[in-house]
Amino acid sequence: MEIFKEFTFESAHRLPHVPEGHKCGRLHGHSFKVALHLTGPVDPHTGWIRDFSEIKAIFKPLYEQLDHNYLNDIPGLENPTSEVLAKWIWAQVKPLLPELSKVRIHETCTSGCEYYGD
Ligand SMILES: [Zn+2]
Repeated sequence: MEIFKEFTFESAHRLPHVPEGHKCGRLHGHSFKVALHLTGPVDPHTGWIRDFSEIKAIFKPLYEQLDHNYLNDIPGLENPTSEVLAKWIWAQVKPLLPELSKVRIHETCTSGCEYYGD
């Protein structure tokens, strides 16, 4: 069984390593969508893998760092591609949510990435 919890936040960024003239090198923003996927057994008593509100509470400190902020200023996100952001989220959430099986990032409606851990 797999469950997921989605979060949306607005952030500004620019990508410092793109070729000169690439549009992603300019300061711009996205409405990011992040989904945390958890895989594991359904507890026979509670009927769930993990309380969604617990997932929300665990993600809250990350959300507060990301929402309405300039991602490049956050340690570890100096080159804030979706891939780097997915790994950054994974590294902080996995120790608190061992059932974490995937971090999915949508940076636009049609672009994003999925990370399954190292
Ligand atoms: Zn962008």
